[in-house]
Amino acid sequence: MRILVSGGAGYIGSHTTLQLIAAGHDGVIVDDFRRSKRSVVARLDALAGRSIEVHEVDLTDLAATDALVSAGGFDAVVHFAGLKAVGESVEKPLDYYSNNLGSTLSLLAAMSRHGVPKFVFSSSATVYGENAPVPMREDFPTSATNPYGWTKVMQEQILRDAAVADPSLRVALLRYFNPVGAHASGTIGEDPSGIPNNLMPLIAQVAVGRRDKLLIYGDDYPTPDGTGRRDYLHVEDLAAGHVAALDRLGTTDVTVSTWNLGTGTPTSVREVVDAFSRACGHELPVEVAPRRAGDVAESYADPSRAEAELGWRADRTIDQMCEDTWRWQSQNPDGYPDAPSGSSSDLR
Ligand code: UDP
Repeated sequence: MRILVSGGAGYIGSHTTLQLIAAGHDGVIVDDFRRSKRSVVARLDALAGRSIEVHEVDLTDLAATDALVSAGGFDAVVHFAGLKAVGESVEKPLDYYSNNLGSTLSLLAAMSRHGVPKFVFSSSATVYGENAPVPMREDFPTSATNPYGWTKVMQEQILRDAAVADPSLRVALLRYFNPVGAHASGTIGEDPSGIPNNLMPLIAQVAVGRRDKLLIYGDDYPTPDGTGRRDYLHVEDLAAGHVAALDRLGTTDVTVSTWNLGTGTPTSVREVVDAFSRACGHELPVEVAPRRAGDVAESYADPSRAEAELGWRADRTIDQMCEDTWRWQSQNPDGYPDAPSGSSSDLR
């Protein structure tokens, strides 16, 4: 299949593009490079062993998106592109709604006009809202506690409605739990723009000396060691979930399929810190701080539907996740280099 990967220069998109290519597909990246670096492209080319087609397009631009899809001959779209910082979404809700919903609407309109039949959507466990019991199942009701989360809930609804109107469309809603880790080469990984929001990149920056210490947000939760527990899964397992979902969309009669992508096993903040200390070979300075607003004690998946229907499981351990994160972070302490000026002309 020829597959358009939106946000393909980003963290999950880059790993998924490589796995699509390894599975024999032609993965084509579209990215606006607002929150990703152009230098990722050369690294992807090196890992893929060939030049990957890359387009620089803002997907909220309907005409530009239509031109891309019209000329592309795509069989599927995997849609990662989007703004994803929870705190920023509270400050700038309209930016989040217009960007995240706008890009999905443009893609759907262009796909409908040019007959692209499959859409894989990068959703999130955030759609289970604040009070969901664990483990979380796909049939739970959806809600959100911030504009970022609402954009995911709303994009899921837009996709369901589009599939009702066009029964030839096949949609996968992939609800990720907590993706971490990096490609085994250490040459691509997560490179957050600005101050990271998530635990693993913060720990990695402490380990490499970019930050003094990790603040543990609360050790009085009703969990075995008092710290919050999450369902961390390796980004390579997550990428494999996309390949499996795309394959499944080719054979299913179900128009919209929803799959949790997680391990089903929760790990506490202290357990992640301990695993990372083992991986990097030294203790990490931590300090217990008050709970973070909006955090829940526990969030983890019931991944059994994905296992039954996709034959997919996230098997890599928390130690592997930390070792691979550390390889990436220690080889690239400041993340990706800025591309030299003029390099955008390399984009095809
Ligand atoms: N966390 C923490 N210190 C940090 C960042 C996160 O203790 O500097 C905790 C957070 O309270 C939660 C877990 O790490 O229990 C995962 O947080 P993250 O933001 O990565 O994921 P989310 O809470 O969105 O699932």
